Amino acid sequence: MATLIDGKLIAAQIKADIAQQTKDFVGDEDSGTGYGVTPGLAVIIVGDDKASRIYVNNKKKACEEVGFYSEEIALPAKTSQKELLDIIDNLNKRVDIDGILVQLPLPKHLNEKTILGAISPKKDVDAFSPFNVGRVMIGEYRFLPCTPAGVMELIKSTGIEISGKNCVVIGRSNIVGKPMAMMLLHENGTVTICHSKTQNLAEITSKADILVSAVGKAKFVTADMVKEGAVVIDVGMNHDEDGKLCGDVDFAAVEPKAGFITPVPGGVGPMTIAMLMKNTLTAAKIHAAAPAKRNPKK
Ligand code: NAP
Repeated sequence: MATLIDGKLIAAQIKADIAQQTKDFVGDEDSGTGYGVTPGLAVIIVGDDKASRIYVNNKKKACEEVGFYSEEIALPAKTSQKELLDIIDNLNKRVDIDGILVQLPLPKHLNEKTILGAISPKKDVDAFSPFNVGRVMIGEYRFLPCTPAGVMELIKSTGIEISGKNCVVIGRSNIVGKPMAMMLLHENGTVTICHSKTQNLAEITSKADILVSAVGKAKFVTADMVKEGAVVIDVGMNHDEDGKLCGDVDFAAVEPKAGFITPVPGGVGPMTIAMLMKNTLTAAKIHAAAPAKRNPKK
């Protein structure tokens, strides 16, 4: 029987730590400590995608919890590329905004690469812009993409050493699979990336000491695909036949075989948001290093 990795609890601990760091960062006017400014996150949502709305609300709630200023910019689905780029340009210039996040997916007429590329690398708290992706690649980053960074925290919470282990990532998206593989590689894992064209998938995954699934298909990872005692991290967010939120992993079948496993919900999801808070505080610290460019906000 596997040990459950409690992402909700670990995320709460990280957010409590960020809240304390934020207090210290803002400081106290009377005693003259801290920077006297509040970290600020702007979240842009375009259209009325239901899932995106839930994610944005959760991000706003997390900002409140850790003591950040947050601003939601909700735009109609028909917003033009030029309008969105102008909004990002303005946010790039604003001194009270440290982090900018564009909630994905965007409506089809908007070019995701162009939009993400327009966010100042210093405010790119999702780490999706080509500049920050490049920095992750060479291991010299300020921000790590939130979901894989959260997964790394969950793996580390098990106490299992990544170095030298067989790590298999299913999925090669720019926001999860690829950076995930890169981070495991930086920790000296022996990494295999699988995707929809991979042959003999079960043969590969069943050799994994650490298996990360980021596919987006309910009950995709079955018990025969998992090595006895493996660390199984489920990034997937899907709905089962009853419409209930579930991951990629057939939890009931895999849990007795795995050594450690994340649940869905309560695994990777809360960690993604905790890592976003971490990145926003990092951005605020970077900006505070140039105090002349910033006005204290009451
Ligand atoms: P994505 O862009 O759709 O990528 C899915 C990946 O799965 C692709 O690389 C695809 O391969 C691969 N795949 C599809 N079918 C496969 C198969 N039969 N065998 C092996 N690989 C297969 O999705 P994503 O954005 O990475 O997200 C993946 C999942 O994680 C989704 O459920 C998403 O909702 C969830 N997610 C959760 C969080 C969180 O905070 N918990 C954050 C982000 C995403 P190809 O490249 O060959 O098409």
